[in-house]
Amino acid sequence: MTGLDRAPRVFLKSGRSRSIERRHPWVFSGAIARIEGNPAPGDLVQVCSFDGPCLAWGHYSPSSQIQVRLFAWGDSQPPGPDTTDFWFRRMQRAIGARAEMLKDPDTNACRLVFAESDGIPGLIVDRYRDVLVLQCLTAGAAARRDLFAEILWDLVSKQISVTALYERSDVDVRKREGLERVRGPVRGHPPEMVQIREHGFAFWVNIVTGHKTGFYLDQAPNRSRLYDLIRARLRTHESVDVLNVFSYTGAFSVYALAAGTSYVLNVDASADALRLGRLNVGLNALSLSAVEDMEGNAFQLLRDLRAQNRHFDVVVVDPPKFATTRRDIQRAARGYKDINMLALHLCRPGGLLLTFSCSGVITEDLFQKILFGAALDAGREVQIIGRMTQGPDHPVALTFPESFYLKGVICRLLD
Ligand code: SAH
Repeated sequence: MTGLDRAPRVFLKSGRSRSIERRHPWVFSGAIARIEGNPAPGDLVQVCSFDGPCLAWGHYSPSSQIQVRLFAWGDSQPPGPDTTDFWFRRMQRAIGARAEMLKDPDTNACRLVFAESDGIPGLIVDRYRDVLVLQCLTAGAAARRDLFAEILWDLVSKQISVTALYERSDVDVRKREGLERVRGPVRGHPPEMVQIREHGFAFWVNIVTGHKTGFYLDQAPNRSRLYDLIRARLRTHESVDVLNVFSYTGAFSVYALAAGTSYVLNVDASADALRLGRLNVGLNALSLSAVEDMEGNAFQLLRDLRAQNRHFDVVVVDPPKFATTRRDIQRAARGYKDINMLALHLCRPGGLLLTFSCSGVITEDLFQKILFGAALDAGREVQIIGRMTQGPDHPVALTFPESFYLKGVICRLLD
C-alpha cells in the first residue's frame, strides 16, 4: 500500500462528515474546507474529517459540483483502493451479480455495471450480444478507461463470447467534469447495428448513435409486464389496440403485437426511430400492417388525436427525461401533467395507461400527485393497479438513493 499515505487529502468542513460516514458516495464542493497536495482531475484522494482522520477514498473531479466520488471507506484493507486488484474485485462483483442474466437463453443484452450503485463511480457498461458498450461519466472513470476496459474484457470473455468493446462517452454530463465527448471502438470493430434478443424478441440496436448506449435496457421487465397485461385482457376482450407514445425503437410495440394486439400507433419525434421501430416489427415476423406511425411532437399529435376523437384500449407513455436538476422540477411537472392528461383522454373507459418518468428528481410521490392532477383535468376516474421500476440490472444501492430514477404506474380507467 505504498504511496497511499501520500495521496492528496481533502479535508471536510466541521459537521460535514455525516453523509460520508453513512457511505453516500458524493462529496459536494460546499462540504470541503481545504485540499492538501495538488490532485489532478481523476486522481485518487483521501477524504478526511475536519480534525484529521481519513474517512474514505475517492476520485477527484475539480470542475464538478460533486468534487469527489467515493468508492472505499475507512482504513484501507488490502488490496487497497484504486489498484488493479481492487477494480478487478469490484467488476467481478458487479458481473457476478448478473450471472443469471448472462446465462439467460432468451435475453442477451443487459447492464453489467451501474456506476455508483455497483461501487464503480462514473462507469456504465452494457452488453449487447457479443459487444460491450462502456460510458465513462466522471474524471475518475475517464482516467481509468483503459484499465476498466482490460478488466472487463478479461472477466466477461470468460463467461460469454465478446468480439468488441465500444465507448459511448458522448454525453453532456461529461462537460460538467471538464471532459470532451468521446465515441469510438476501444477493442475490435463492432458493427453499428447489433441484433439482440430480449425475452426471446429480437431488436436492432444502434450502438453508435442510439440513445444512452443504444437501447432502453432498464425497461425490459416493464415490456414483459405490458405483454402479460395484453394477454390477460384478450381473455375477456376480442381485440386490443395500443397507442405507444415516445415509441423510440418500438420495443413496447413489439411486445404488444406479440401478445396479440391488433393495431399499434407509434408516436415519436424521430423519423429514424420510427423506421427502426418498423424494422424491429419485421424482425420478429409480426404484421407491419398492424402498425401505424406518427412523426412529430407528441404534445401536439396527442391533441390532434383527441380532436379526431380517437381512443385506445392501452396507452403507453414513456417520455425522455423532462427534469435533470431540481430547478427543472416545476417545468417538468407541467410537461408530465399535460402529456398524461392527453393520454387519459385517449384511453377508452376500462382501458389501461402505462406511464413512466425517468427523471430521478421527480419522486414517486410527486409523480403520483401529477397523475392525480392530470386525471382531475381529464375528468377521468383512475385507479393504480400496479407499479414498475428499472430492471434488476439497474440496482439501487441503499447508500445511494439517487440511483432510483425509473418510475412507472399502471392506471386503470373506470367506466
Ligand atoms: N419507450 C422507448 C424509449 C423512449 S425514449 C423504449 O422502450 O425504447 C424517448 C423518445 O421520445 C425518443 O425516441 C425521442 O425521439 C422521443 N421524443 C422526445 N421528445 C419528443 C416529443 N416532444 N414528441 C415526440 N417524441 C419525442
